[in-house]
Amino acid sequence: MDQSLLDRFKTIVGPKGWTDDAATLAPHLTEWRDRYRGTTPLMLSPASTAEVAAIVTLCAETRTPLVPQGGNTGLVGGQIPQGELLVSLRRMNKIRALDPLNDTITAEAGCILADIQAAARVADRIFPLSLAAEGSATIGGNLSTNAGGTAVLRYGNARALTLGLEVVLPDGRILDMLRGLRKDNTGYDLKQLFIGAEGTLGIITAAVLTLFPQPRATETAMAALQSPEQALALLQTMRASAGAALVTFELIPRIGLDFVTRHIPNTRDPFAAPSPWYALITLESGHKDLRVILEAALADAAAQDVIRDAVIAGSEAQRRGLERLRETMSEAQKYEGGSIKCDIAVPVSAIPAFLDEAAAAVGRACPGIRPVAFGHAGDGNIHFNLSQPPGTERAAFLTRWDALSTLVHEIAARHGGSISAEHGLGQMKKDEILHYKSEIEMDLMRRVKSSLDPNGIMNPGKLV
Ligand SMILES: Cc1cc2nc3c(=O)[nH]c(=O)nc-3n(C[C@H](O)[C@H](O)[C@H](O)COP(=O)(O)OP(=O)(O)OC[C@H]3O[C@@H](n4cnc5c(N)ncnc54)[C@H](O)[C@@H]3O)c2cc1C
Repeated sequence: MDQSLLDRFKTIVGPKGWTDDAATLAPHLTEWRDRYRGTTPLMLSPASTAEVAAIVTLCAETRTPLVPQGGNTGLVGGQIPQGELLVSLRRMNKIRALDPLNDTITAEAGCILADIQAAARVADRIFPLSLAAEGSATIGGNLSTNAGGTAVLRYGNARALTLGLEVVLPDGRILDMLRGLRKDNTGYDLKQLFIGAEGTLGIITAAVLTLFPQPRATETAMAALQSPEQALALLQTMRASAGAALVTFELIPRIGLDFVTRHIPNTRDPFAAPSPWYALITLESGHKDLRVILEAALADAAAQDVIRDAVIAGSEAQRRGLERLRETMSEAQKYEGGSIKCDIAVPVSAIPAFLDEAAAAVGRACPGIRPVAFGHAGDGNIHFNLSQPPGTERAAFLTRWDALSTLVHEIAARHGGSISAEHGLGQMKKDEILHYKSEIEMDLMRRVKSSLDPNGIMNPGKLV
């Protein structure tokens, strides 16, 4: 990119708003799993929507490609530039408004998810989107990946939590749809195009998000199970008993619990005897009688031989202890060598069959492989991660990433599932998705892309 053009971009954002220093850029050019390494001539950090619009207008005029980046916690390489301009939204981190009576918060794209949650709490509300990367991920990135997390069962994913958006379009115009409306049937719901678009259709600069009342009671339990079939039976019991109070229903395999208690400090198995599977359950409500509901539901499940045992957190510290077992499951796998990640979704009813078939298939392809299948069973999203066989070469195992994940994806697809439940396509699954979506669906996606971004400057080489 020629120097005079780079200088024009620098002028837009001023001295505080750009860097080309290699050391400062370095953490923006690698990602959490170290699968993708990027390059860029310049990172721009605009401080306002007007600056974003000026940058994109110049990009459009000069056909300069760009990559938006938030907290750089994305897991499919969507935020990593390959020579394009990098546009970091991190300086756009203001809460613009909080309307407790409308239960909405208006936040700029660079707000860290945990800061939005904290701002909501101050107003005695919650913003329920919650995921392990919430201390670094930004709301712009959450919306662009349509992030899910642990409370989707009750509150839906990022898409369901968004009422309005402000977006800078690929031609530099500002599309202001910052409406806090729950009903608005006035044509196409355009904001939905940008949610989950992974920065390929425009740059999200702000959003109106829905808040919910602060729960007055939270109860957390862990149940020991014989099989995934029992997990589904327990899920039905919990739904019937707790209704909308059921916020989280996470599946945990024995091997995952072993990894966590082996490697993560201050964790322990809450049960005296091992079980093959576990479910972590959270109930939240405005009523105080949750404990009674939870105990009755677990007693009911025990009477029907659905669960082998259960523990209920008796204090906040115990609740955090149980949650930590689930939250640290990805981290614990790092200490067991190479780990191949498959973020799939299947209809909830298909989880047991999927787990059986996928474990058998990867076991045949790679004897000794250790599937660690855990996650958001309540909404059909399983992180079917594969830890390397003990005593083998990490690097050699990781060369099998594509082959082994393809096996898993084929089985998910056979059950009517998705090869990316919540992480997106990015660079990682851009080509693979062609096998799973129909030609008509891909054609429509390409048409949407080319009509909004005819010059292909918005995050090229990602998603579509
Ligand atoms: C430990 C860990 C746990 C995770 N757990 C979950 C989980 O439970 N559920 C889940 O859904 N995800 C999870 N993720 C991945 C998740 O996608 C990201 O954490 C998050 O949603 C991305 O936000 P970010 O700000 O880091 O975006 P980035 O990584 O910076 O970007 C992600 C994508 O969004 C685009 N983008 C970023 N900001 C904008 C913007 N303002 N406008 C347009 N495009 C933009 C980028 O170009 C890129 O394509 C996890 C990640 C980690 C590291």
